[in-house]
Amino acid sequence: MSVRELVVLGTASQVPTRRRNHNGYFLRWDGDGLLFDPGEGTQRQMIHYGVTATSISDLLITHFHGDHCLGFASLVQRISLDEVPHAVRVHYPASGQRFIDRMRKASIFRDVAKLDTMPFEGEGTLLETSDWSLSARRLDHGVECFGYRLQEPDRWNVDAVAAKTRGITGPAIRTLKETGTATAPDGSLVRLDEVAERREGQSFAFVMDTRRCANAVELARGVDLLVIESTYLHSHADEAHKNGHLTAREAAEIAREAGVRRLVLTHISQRYRETEPFLEEAAAIHPDCVVAEDGDVVPFPPRREAAPA
Ligand SMILES: [Zn+2]
Repeated sequence: MSVRELVVLGTASQVPTRRRNHNGYFLRWDGDGLLFDPGEGTQRQMIHYGVTATSISDLLITHFHGDHCLGFASLVQRISLDEVPHAVRVHYPASGQRFIDRMRKASIFRDVAKLDTMPFEGEGTLLETSDWSLSARRLDHGVECFGYRLQEPDRWNVDAVAAKTRGITGPAIRTLKETGTATAPDGSLVRLDEVAERREGQSFAFVMDTRRCANAVELARGVDLLVIESTYLHSHADEAHKNGHLTAREAAEIAREAGVRRLVLTHISQRYRETEPFLEEAAAIHPDCVVAEDGDVVPFPPRREAAPA
């Protein structure tokens, strides 16, 4: 069964608090599991919230501030201990290679971890699988930092009965999908949209840490689910900008501008005890937002209805 949901493992910025662990976000996407920005303590949060090392297909790091990556050292050892049978892909800015190298060998362990490290130098598509493509764009955080986007391609679902009625079967269906038209045995031309329904691909973006910038909007353009930092309330906007961060209001404005369907705010500064003001600030701008708490499971919004032909 296909399951697509976000498991929130940690939501603190900079330092953990009694209520919030360092960052950690696990995106369950059918058979894949993408773990973003594992901060300190991620291994234990995974146990709390039902994420196994074996379920991780990809590890992704936006930048090398400790709250976004210190969990990598222990995760590698856990992947090894559990003898995860597949190679876990690791995506990170190449400028942080020395940090990856150190954390990869942070202490003594029987190292049988299989990692497929995929450092990247700049923006663009990082990986295409049969199910999704992963891309990165540079953010504005003072240190090199990239946001990520996961995009499922649009697909055509051919109605086999409708196609057969028009005389299109077997290899002709493939031709129809690949070229948009196929010729029926009676010589008539059949268009794909006459016998198939277009299913729009779902998408996800992860924007963290950054000031407001055009790339944050581009990453989030039209996504179903956006995880975005909102370290501060807007009353502390000056401090947010000085430190390379967003406010809840700005995060919601980015989501609105980008046409995001569901918005998850996180990376909350330890100075705030209550999150209601974050929700109030963002909900005034975007109708579907969640202020993440550790352990939250956030589903994707229902798939969009196919556009009428
Ligand atoms: Zn940072």
